Amino acid sequence: MLTMVVHSDWPYNMLRARRTPERDGEEIALVPMDGKPHPSPAERYQWRVLEQESTPDFWKLAPGSKSNFQKPDGNGGHSSSLLLGDYDEATEGWVVRVYQGHETLEPWPSTDERGVPGTGVLAASTDAAAACLRDVRDSGGHLLVLTGAGMSVSSGVPVFRGADGSMSADFLRFLGDFNSARTRHGLEPVDDWFEFSVPEMFQKETEKEAWAYWRWRTLRALVTPAEDYRQLMQIIEYFGPERCFVETSNCDMLHSSAGVADDRLHEIHGSLGYLQCASQCCDVLYPADEGFRQRLRDEPEWVPRCTACQRSCLRPNVMIFQDDKFVDARLRRQRANKDAFNAKVQAGNLAVLEVGAGRVVPSIRSMAEWHADVGRALIRINPSEVECSAMETGISSLPVGDKYFPITARGSEALEAILARLS
Ligand SMILES: [Zn+2]
Repeated sequence: MLTMVVHSDWPYNMLRARRTPERDGEEIALVPMDGKPHPSPAERYQWRVLEQESTPDFWKLAPGSKSNFQKPDGNGGHSSSLLLGDYDEATEGWVVRVYQGHETLEPWPSTDERGVPGTGVLAASTDAAAACLRDVRDSGGHLLVLTGAGMSVSSGVPVFRGADGSMSADFLRFLGDFNSARTRHGLEPVDDWFEFSVPEMFQKETEKEAWAYWRWRTLRALVTPAEDYRQLMQIIEYFGPERCFVETSNCDMLHSSAGVADDRLHEIHGSLGYLQCASQCCDVLYPADEGFRQRLRDEPEWVPRCTACQRSCLRPNVMIFQDDKFVDARLRRQRANKDAFNAKVQAGNLAVLEVGAGRVVPSIRSMAEWHADVGRALIRINPSEVECSAMETGISSLPVGDKYFPITARGSEALEAILARLS
C-alpha cells in the first residue's frame, strides 16, 4: 500500500475520483486545489493507493483513504458543505494516473525523508504556536490540553464515526444485531447512534447486544499510547505538570497510561476503566480490572451483573445519550480538580492546546474556544482543514495568528514540530 498526495506539479484546479476505471466513469468525488498549485505536503490530500490493483492507467484508491473530497451534488456542481471524513465508501475509487501528459499523484514521503519536522505552512503555524507556548510558560502561565477521539487514532483505538457523522461498518453491525433483538421482543428498531447509545440499551431484552458493543469498545481501548501521547507529556513536562491540566472526551484511559496524574485529568464523558449498575441502584464504581477484561475476552456472550441489586447488569461508567443513570461521583471529583486549576490561572495567562477534536459532538472544541477567549491563545491541531478553520461557539475574538493557531496536520506530526521548536 502506497500513501500518495496530489503531485505538486499538477496544473489543474481539481482531480476527479471515479467509481470505475474509465475516463468517463461515474464521478464520486473531486479534490479541489483551491487555487493552491503547490501546497505543502501537510496541506495536500493523502490517499492510500493499492499498488497491486492499480493499472498503468489508473490508481486504485483504498477504502479509508484520507480525504477532503467534495461530493457531486447531482446538479453538476459539488457540495462544499459535504466534506467527507477519514473513512467513506466513496473514497474507494479510481484516479487517472496521467492526465494530458501530467502525473497526478506522487508518493507521500516518509518522516525520515522529510527531515526537519514541519515544512512550509506547517512550519509557519508551529513556529507561532511554539512561540506562544514559550511566552505563556516563561511568564508563569498555565496550559490546558483538550483532546478528542482523533488523539487516540494512532494508538489504534477505532473511531466509530467519520467527520461527517457517518457510522463505521463495525458500529452498523452492532446496531443491526441490537435492532434484531429489539424486534424479537416486540420493540421498535432504533435509527442511529443517538437512539442506540442510551441507558435503555442495558434493559433485559437487549443487554447482551449492548454488551457486545461495549465489550468491543473496552477491549479495543486496551492499547499502548502512541507517539502523540508521549509528545504531549513532553509539552506538559516543559510547562511543569503542576501548571497543566488535561480534559478529554476519550474514555480509553490513554492519558493515564501515558502518565497524566489522576488529579490533573477530567474525562468529560467518563471512563471505560470503571463499571456501575445500569439501573443506578447505588453510586458504587467498580474498577474494570484485569479479571473483568479476561472474562470479556473468554466469554463473548457474558453480561456482567450488579451484585448490589442482583437485578440489573453493570455498564461502563461512560456518559451516553440522555443519560439519567450515569454515576457521576468520579466525574464530580475531576471537575473539582479542574475548578482548582482554573482558580490558579492568573489574568488569562492560559494557553489552550486542542488535539483531534471532531465536530459531531463538539463539546471539547467549544470548551477550547471559551477558555481561549478569556485566555491567551488556542492552538488547534487537526488533520482536517475544515475542522481546523471551523469555530463552534461564534466567538469572534480569536484572530488567527494572534490568539488562534490552527495547525492542519496529524497530532504526532504537529506535536513533533512544536517540540522541535521548544527545545
Ligand atoms: Zn444494581
